[in-house]
Amino acid sequence: MNILVTNDDGIETEGIKLLAQALWELGDVTVVAPATEQSAVSRSITFRAPLRVEHRNEPVSRAFAVSGTPADCVFLALHHLLPQPPDLLVSGINTGPNMGDDILYSGTVAGAMEGALNGIPSIAISAGAYRGQRYDTASRWLVQFLKENRLALPPKTLLNINVPCCELEELRGSQYTFQGHTHYAQKVFKREDPWGREYYWLGGDLPAGKPDAGSDVKAVAEGYVSITPLGLDLTNHSYLKKGAKT
Ligand code: MN
Repeated sequence: MNILVTNDDGIETEGIKLLAQALWELGDVTVVAPATEQSAVSRSITFRAPLRVEHRNEPVSRAFAVSGTPADCVFLALHHLLPQPPDLLVSGINTGPNMGDDILYSGTVAGAMEGALNGIPSIAISAGAYRGQRYDTASRWLVQFLKENRLALPPKTLLNINVPCCELEELRGSQYTFQGHTHYAQKVFKREDPWGREYYWLGGDLPAGKPDAGSDVKAVAEGYVSITPLGLDLTNHSYLKKGAKT
Protein backbone atom coordinates (compact mmCIF):
# COMPACT_ATOMS: atom_id res chain seq x y z
CA MET A 1 0.00 0.00 0.00
CA ASN A 2 1.28 3.47 -0.93
CA ILE A 3 0.46 6.11 1.68
CA LEU A 4 0.73 9.88 1.30
CA VAL A 5 1.11 11.86 4.51
CA THR A 6 0.66 15.59 4.92
CA ASN A 7 -0.28 18.07 7.67
CA ASP A 8 -0.72 21.76 8.36
CA ASP A 9 1.66 22.20 11.28
CA GLY A 10 4.75 21.75 9.14
CA ILE A 11 7.04 18.89 8.19
CA GLU A 12 9.21 19.15 11.30
CA THR A 13 6.49 18.69 13.91
CA GLU A 14 6.09 15.77 16.28
CA GLY A 15 2.60 14.89 15.04
CA ILE A 16 3.57 14.17 11.44
CA LYS A 17 6.77 12.43 12.53
CA LEU A 18 5.02 9.85 14.70
CA LEU A 19 2.20 9.43 12.18
CA ALA A 20 4.54 8.78 9.23
CA GLN A 21 6.66 6.36 11.24
CA ALA A 22 3.62 4.45 12.54
CA LEU A 23 2.12 4.12 9.05
CA TRP A 24 5.27 2.31 7.84
CA GLU A 25 3.70 -0.76 9.41
CA LEU A 26 1.01 -0.64 6.72
CA GLY A 27 2.92 0.36 3.62
CA ASP A 28 5.28 2.64 1.77
CA VAL A 29 5.05 6.18 3.13
CA THR A 30 5.77 9.43 1.29
CA VAL A 31 5.55 12.71 3.19
CA VAL A 32 4.69 15.91 1.34
CA ALA A 33 4.10 18.63 3.90
CA PRO A 34 4.40 22.39 4.37
CA ALA A 35 7.87 23.69 5.21
CA THR A 36 6.34 26.05 7.80
CA GLU A 37 3.19 26.08 9.91
CA GLN A 38 -0.01 26.55 7.92
CA SER A 39 -2.68 26.07 10.57
CA ALA A 40 -6.10 27.57 9.77
CA VAL A 41 -5.30 28.21 6.10
CA SER A 42 -8.22 25.97 5.12
CA ARG A 43 -8.06 24.76 1.49
CA SER A 44 -6.27 27.73 0.00
CA ILE A 45 -3.97 27.03 -2.91
CA THR A 46 -1.07 29.10 -4.15
CA PHE A 47 -1.34 30.04 -7.79
CA ARG A 48 0.00 33.57 -7.95
CA ALA A 49 3.38 32.82 -6.40
CA PRO A 50 6.06 30.19 -7.00
CA LEU A 51 6.28 27.08 -4.84
CA ARG A 52 9.60 25.59 -3.78
CA VAL A 53 9.97 21.87 -3.07
CA GLU A 54 12.88 20.58 -1.01
CA HIS A 55 13.73 16.89 -0.64
CA ARG A 56 14.26 15.79 2.96
CA ASN A 57 15.23 12.53 4.65
CA GLU A 58 13.00 13.21 7.67
CA PRO A 59 10.53 12.10 8.99
CA VAL A 60 10.83 9.28 6.41
CA SER A 61 13.37 8.75 3.64
CA ARG A 62 10.99 10.06 0.97
CA ALA A 63 9.86 13.42 2.28
CA PHE A 64 9.28 16.75 0.57
CA ALA A 65 8.95 20.14 2.23
CA VAL A 66 6.77 22.54 0.23
CA SER A 67 6.72 26.32 0.65
CA GLY A 68 2.92 26.31 0.56
CA THR A 69 -0.33 25.10 2.09
CA PRO A 70 -1.59 21.55 2.78
CA ALA A 71 -3.75 21.72 -0.37
CA ASP A 72 -0.65 22.79 -2.36
CA CYS A 73 1.21 19.76 -0.96
CA VAL A 74 -1.49 17.27 -1.97
CA PHE A 75 -1.94 18.94 -5.37
CA LEU A 76 1.81 18.71 -6.05
CA ALA A 77 2.03 15.14 -4.72
CA LEU A 78 -0.88 13.80 -6.77
CA HIS A 79 -0.12 15.63 -9.99
CA HIS A 80 3.67 15.70 -9.99
CA LEU A 81 5.73 14.18 -7.18
CA LEU A 82 4.20 10.70 -6.87
CA PRO A 83 4.69 8.18 -9.70
CA GLN A 84 1.17 6.82 -9.11
CA PRO A 85 -1.88 7.84 -7.03
CA PRO A 86 -1.56 6.72 -3.38
CA ASP A 87 -3.93 4.12 -1.93
CA LEU A 88 -4.43 6.24 1.17
CA LEU A 89 -3.87 9.83 2.28
CA VAL A 90 -3.53 10.79 5.95
CA SER A 91 -3.31 14.40 7.11
CA GLY A 92 -2.07 15.09 10.65
CA ILE A 93 -1.63 14.51 13.43
CA ASN A 94 -2.75 18.06 14.18
CA THR A 95 -1.58 19.69 17.43
CA GLY A 96 -5.17 20.42 18.51
CA PRO A 97 -8.73 19.28 17.84
CA ASN A 98 -10.43 19.83 14.49
CA MET A 99 -14.08 19.55 15.41
CA GLY A 100 -17.33 21.47 15.04
CA ASP A 101 -17.17 24.85 13.35
CA ASP A 102 -13.36 24.78 13.35
CA ILE A 103 -13.38 22.16 10.59
CA LEU A 104 -13.96 24.85 7.98
CA TYR A 105 -10.81 26.73 9.03
CA SER A 106 -8.67 23.63 9.29
CA GLY A 107 -5.64 23.10 7.08
CA THR A 108 -5.38 19.52 8.35
CA VAL A 109 -8.89 18.65 7.18
CA ALA A 110 -8.27 20.56 3.93
CA GLY A 111 -5.32 18.31 3.12
CA ALA A 112 -7.65 15.31 3.32
CA MET A 113 -10.33 17.16 1.36
CA GLU A 114 -7.88 17.69 -1.51
CA GLY A 115 -7.26 13.94 -1.50
CA ALA A 116 -10.98 13.06 -1.41
CA LEU A 117 -11.65 15.45 -4.29
CA ASN A 118 -9.14 13.46 -6.32
CA GLY A 119 -10.69 10.10 -5.46
CA ILE A 120 -8.09 9.08 -2.84
CA PRO A 121 -9.36 7.45 0.40
CA SER A 122 -8.48 10.25 2.81
CA ILE A 123 -8.30 10.75 6.56
CA ALA A 124 -7.66 13.83 8.69
CA ILE A 125 -6.49 13.07 12.22
CA SER A 126 -6.04 15.43 15.16
CA ALA A 127 -5.07 15.32 18.81
CA GLY A 128 -8.29 15.85 20.74
CA ALA A 129 -6.88 18.38 23.22
CA TYR A 130 -4.95 21.66 23.16
CA ARG A 131 -2.50 20.47 25.80
CA GLY A 132 -0.86 17.15 26.64
CA GLN A 133 -1.05 15.89 23.06
CA ARG A 134 -0.61 12.15 22.69
CA TYR A 135 0.53 11.59 19.11
CA ASP A 136 1.70 8.11 20.09
CA THR A 137 -1.83 7.14 21.15
CA ALA A 138 -3.42 8.69 18.05
CA SER A 139 -1.00 7.08 15.61
CA ARG A 140 -1.21 3.65 17.24
CA TRP A 141 -5.01 3.86 17.31
CA LEU A 142 -5.06 4.78 13.59
CA VAL A 143 -2.81 1.90 12.56
CA GLN A 144 -5.05 -0.51 14.48
CA PHE A 145 -8.19 1.04 12.93
CA LEU A 146 -6.75 0.70 9.42
CA LYS A 147 -5.77 -2.92 10.06
CA GLU A 148 -9.30 -3.74 11.16
CA ASN A 149 -11.25 -1.67 8.61
CA ARG A 150 -11.09 -1.55 4.85
CA LEU A 151 -11.90 2.02 3.85
CA ALA A 152 -14.82 2.00 1.43
CA LEU A 153 -15.91 5.62 1.43
CA PRO A 154 -18.47 7.10 -0.96
CA PRO A 155 -17.10 9.57 -3.56
CA LYS A 156 -15.89 12.95 -2.24
CA THR A 157 -16.03 11.75 1.35
CA LEU A 158 -13.27 11.77 3.95
CA LEU A 159 -12.96 10.74 7.58
CA ASN A 160 -12.23 13.42 10.15
CA ILE A 161 -10.83 11.74 13.24
CA ASN A 162 -10.13 13.28 16.66
CA VAL A 163 -8.40 11.17 19.29
CA PRO A 164 -8.59 11.94 23.03
CA CYS A 165 -5.19 12.55 24.63
CA CYS A 166 -4.69 9.64 27.00
CA GLU A 167 -3.09 6.21 27.04
CA LEU A 168 -4.26 3.93 24.20
CA GLU A 169 -5.72 1.54 26.76
CA GLU A 170 -7.70 4.37 28.37
CA LEU A 171 -9.68 5.18 25.21
CA ARG A 172 -13.33 4.21 25.74
CA GLY A 173 -13.74 3.15 22.11
CA SER A 174 -14.76 5.01 18.96
CA GLN A 175 -17.97 6.60 17.78
CA TYR A 176 -19.17 7.74 14.37
CA THR A 177 -20.30 11.31 14.89
CA PHE A 178 -21.63 14.41 13.14
CA GLN A 179 -19.92 17.80 12.96
CA GLY A 180 -21.01 19.64 16.12
CA HIS A 181 -20.36 23.18 17.28
CA THR A 182 -17.40 24.84 18.94
CA HIS A 183 -18.53 27.83 20.98
CA TYR A 184 -15.74 30.36 21.39
CA ALA A 185 -15.72 33.69 23.15
CA GLN A 186 -14.14 35.38 20.13
CA LYS A 187 -11.79 38.23 20.91
CA VAL A 188 -9.84 40.85 19.00
CA PHE A 189 -6.71 42.00 20.80
CA LYS A 190 -5.59 45.51 19.86
CA ARG A 191 -1.95 46.30 20.56
CA GLU A 192 0.74 48.71 19.49
CA ASP A 193 3.91 47.78 17.65
CA PRO A 194 7.36 49.24 18.64
CA TRP A 195 6.80 52.07 16.12
CA GLY A 196 3.47 53.13 17.61
CA ARG A 197 1.29 51.57 14.91
CA GLU A 198 -1.81 49.61 15.88
CA TYR A 199 -2.06 45.93 15.13
CA TYR A 200 -4.71 43.34 15.81
CA TRP A 201 -4.51 39.75 16.93
CA LEU A 202 -7.50 37.43 16.52
CA GLY A 203 -8.24 34.81 19.13
CA GLY A 204 -10.49 33.71 21.91
CA ASP A 205 -10.89 31.49 24.89
CA LEU A 206 -11.04 27.75 24.43
CA PRO A 207 -14.43 26.37 23.36
CA ALA A 208 -17.02 26.02 26.11
CA GLY A 209 -20.68 25.07 26.30
CA LYS A 210 -22.67 21.86 26.27
CA PRO A 211 -21.91 19.70 23.23
CA ASP A 212 -24.73 18.12 21.21
CA ALA A 213 -25.36 14.40 21.74
CA GLY A 214 -23.88 12.43 18.87
CA SER A 215 -21.44 15.17 17.89
CA ASP A 216 -17.67 15.02 17.49
CA VAL A 217 -17.17 17.40 20.43
CA LYS A 218 -19.26 15.25 22.76
CA ALA A 219 -17.56 11.98 21.81
CA VAL A 220 -14.05 13.31 22.49
CA ALA A 221 -15.17 14.99 25.74
CA GLU A 222 -16.35 11.58 26.91
CA GLY A 223 -13.11 9.81 25.99
CA TYR A 224 -14.15 8.25 22.66
CA VAL A 225 -12.31 8.58 19.37
CA SER A 226 -14.58 10.64 17.11
CA ILE A 227 -14.90 9.58 13.46
CA THR A 228 -16.89 12.05 11.35
CA PRO A 229 -17.53 11.31 7.70
CA LEU A 230 -17.31 14.65 5.89
CA GLY A 231 -18.52 15.47 2.40
CA LEU A 232 -17.31 18.20 0.07
CA ASP A 233 -20.79 19.40 -0.93
CA LEU A 234 -21.71 22.46 1.16
CA THR A 235 -25.22 22.75 -0.33
CA ASN A 236 -27.99 22.88 2.28
CA HIS A 237 -30.02 20.10 0.62
CA SER A 238 -32.95 20.12 3.03
CA TYR A 239 -33.40 23.88 2.54
CA LEU A 240 -33.09 23.54 -1.21
CA LYS A 241 -35.79 20.86 -1.17
CA LYS A 242 -38.10 23.17 0.79
CA GLY A 243 -37.87 25.78 -1.94
CA ALA A 244 -34.95 27.93 -0.75
CA LYS A 245 -36.53 31.23 -1.80
CA THR A 246 -35.60 33.48 1.09
MN1 MN B 1 -2.48 22.76 12.78
